[in-house]
Amino acid sequence: MTDTTVHDAAIIGAGFGGMGAAIQLGRLGFTDLVILEREDDLGGTWHVNRYPGLAVDIPSSTYSYSFEPNPHWSRLYAPGEELKKYASHVADKYDLRTLMRFNSVVEGAVWDAENEHWTVNVAGGERLHARYLLTATGFLSQPKMPDIPGIETFAGKVIHTTKWDDSYDLAGKKAAVIGTGATAVQLIPEIAPTLAELTVYQRTAIWVTPKSDAKIPKRVRSMYARVPLTQRIVRGFGSGVLEVLMVAAVLKYRRFKIFNKIAERVAKRHMARQIDDPELRKKLTPDYDFGCKRPTFSNDYFKAFTRDNVNLETTSIERIEPDGIVTSDGNKTTIDTLILATGFNLWDVNFPAIEIIGRDGRNLGKWWRDNRFQAYEGVAVPHFPNFLTLASPYSYSGLSYFTTIESQMKHMKRLFGEISKRGASTFEVTSEANAEFLDRMTEKLEDSVFALGSCSTARSYYFNQHGEAAILRPTSTINAFREAGRFPLDAYSYA
Ligand code: NAP
Repeated sequence: MTDTTVHDAAIIGAGFGGMGAAIQLGRLGFTDLVILEREDDLGGTWHVNRYPGLAVDIPSSTYSYSFEPNPHWSRLYAPGEELKKYASHVADKYDLRTLMRFNSVVEGAVWDAENEHWTVNVAGGERLHARYLLTATGFLSQPKMPDIPGIETFAGKVIHTTKWDDSYDLAGKKAAVIGTGATAVQLIPEIAPTLAELTVYQRTAIWVTPKSDAKIPKRVRSMYARVPLTQRIVRGFGSGVLEVLMVAAVLKYRRFKIFNKIAERVAKRHMARQIDDPELRKKLTPDYDFGCKRPTFSNDYFKAFTRDNVNLETTSIERIEPDGIVTSDGNKTTIDTLILATGFNLWDVNFPAIEIIGRDGRNLGKWWRDNRFQAYEGVAVPHFPNFLTLASPYSYSGLSYFTTIESQMKHMKRLFGEISKRGASTFEVTSEANAEFLDRMTEKLEDSVFALGSCSTARSYYFNQHGEAAILRPTSTINAFREAGRFPLDAYSYA
């Protein structure tokens, strides 16, 4: 089926990134927008992830659009379903639902130079056209299935945390969780009391610091609703703390590594308060620097390992059999439920999440892999006219994803303002501007924990196959916002 209309823009992804882009394009006067979403509803990660214990771990007043504060968060760190509800509220308020097409799996997009538009191919044979293409496909959106020998022979229930099965009753089950990342840290304490036995397979330990969470009293929520300025102040405070953490403990490690050492001490003391057994503590203590890998926050993760029905296994997995897991020492643990908290594949399949073919047949995924992962200001790539890639190398700015979204919205405002002023039909970032940006980011990374810290054993997804930590924009968010509003207009060519 071919839709012959040339839409103003096609946005891929109906999560917070895609919705932010749609809101901005609407403000800029574009009315014919299509948002294509592979899932059956909006909300991105907050729709897909529904595992027990799911919650945001950036303060909620900060983890939201600044222009759409939500006074109703029940906790300082809201549970996952409130994020999903907030996403629905935003979609309704900004009338985005009518633009969304669910269950639309985009297979690829090709630049049509003659007609100056993108052709987007949707699974099932549908094609549509749009002047502009924006991909907001998220960073952590391609679940990773571990390639452990024999996994396909397992006869019990297998659940990846991104496909939680609410109808499956865990009560009395003998389960294994593979993985000890941020997801497992939230999940394990929630499910441990229900299970008969739980074995956690840890390949790499994770830094866990306390989570200063609390209920937000009703009177505070009504104050946020009546006087939004009060919540803005809380947001500002939260953003400030996150900014200091990000800049000092991650980006300016050369000068501030004391922050990392303090954080490590806090995490170790946190563990010592909850676990008496020195052997167990040793196993749970990471051997890489704080900041190399995304740290986590929990008040009950360590406690879970002191339960009689929970066992931590650090011997590597050799194979999976129909009724259990065999480790390299020959021991077998019998299980009936296998929970994969094994995270996401970013560098092989997610940058980009779909095949994108630009000018002169350039394939974005291939070009990134053959050269280096790069995107001007985290949004644009030479040879890809009228294209903004919102989940890109060097685009993630700050710790709250909303900082990234809103700085990208600001970039769009300046760029599309110029396009309109010139009456141009196409834009494309210049190779020079792109190269200058990449050089600058590369240089800035030299001060970061990724370059100077002891990260080799972290197995952090921040690093790509070339050993570059090319996700986070290694500047302050203040810098990201400033550049979004002031980047040189001749960084793009217009025609
Ligand atoms: P992750 O951090 O990538 O962790 C995956 C875990 O699975 C790691 O412990 C990894 O071990 C293990 N693993 C993967 N393949 C394995 C294999 N073949 N054998 C043994 N172990 C294997 O994934 P995640 O926990 O889903 O978290 C991903 C990101 O999602 C987080 O960093 C965070 O950004 C986000 N997240 C956010 C929240 C929130 O509250 N906002 C909550 C959850 C997740 P290795 O480390 O050894 O590879």
